[in-house]
Amino acid sequence: MNADATANELLDLLEESREYTKYFAELGIDTIALSNDLVTSEPPQPALRPPAVTVSDPASPGSLFGELAPPQTTFAQSTERLEDVWRDIGDCTRCGLCEGRTQVVNTYGNQKARLMFVGEAPGADEDAQGRPFVGRAGQLLTKIIEAIGMKREDVIIGNVNRCRPPGNRQPTLEEAAICRPFLFREIAAVKPDVIVVMGNTALRNLLEVREGITRVRGKFQDFRGIKVMPTFHPAYLLRDPSKKRETWEDLKKVRDYLDNLPPRTHES
Ligand code: URA
Repeated sequence: MNADATANELLDLLEESREYTKYFAELGIDTIALSNDLVTSEPPQPALRPPAVTVSDPASPGSLFGELAPPQTTFAQSTERLEDVWRDIGDCTRCGLCEGRTQVVNTYGNQKARLMFVGEAPGADEDAQGRPFVGRAGQLLTKIIEAIGMKREDVIIGNVNRCRPPGNRQPTLEEAAICRPFLFREIAAVKPDVIVVMGNTALRNLLEVREGITRVRGKFQDFRGIKVMPTFHPAYLLRDPSKKRETWEDLKKVRDYLDNLPPRTHES
């Protein structure tokens, strides 16, 4: 790696640590104890590599268990329905997050949506109501969706993890890797034209990137043939409203892309 790339990476890490420091301060946390878990999972996080062709995630510890793996179809060929995925998820106890959650929060919204949003993990409101993005960040997300001329009912919204992490901490790499295959299966079931990944956890669990959201946002990426637009997480926008302008720029690109797509012919 050359000196410029190293410097850029350090700047990214610095920016991320600043974001997290602000975030923790807002939660009223002024001391962070390092558990082994955090020591092994905290930044710099390696890019998580989605599997090349299968809907399930062979790299995931979860795929050791038969029930996680649907028939080995390619992503585009999946004929699963969301209900099939949710049935497999069930009252999940595959990772430790089940201990603190009230309920599993699955992806929710229009099952034929052309636009999908992916966040990190449920917070307190989502944990209580069983729906993603229903708290303050969710209300901002609704405004973002409406700003591009759509309604919440037009889109579908999910998270990398479906159980609330204690104290709203970031899911560990292992927790994300266990839950992620279900998100992939949901994406395969819905087949959206565009996925908006909000924040670093969503970005790094869908895409093979090392850079953080600050550097990648606003540039279309690819997830198995589906356009992906990385942008800031709405919770971050609540902490730093000056970043809303960039999010608006990113979402305008999504709107323009969707506006120029031909109408769907295969309404299944
Ligand atoms: N933040 C997320 O990442 N997901 C939610 O569902 C709510 C807040």
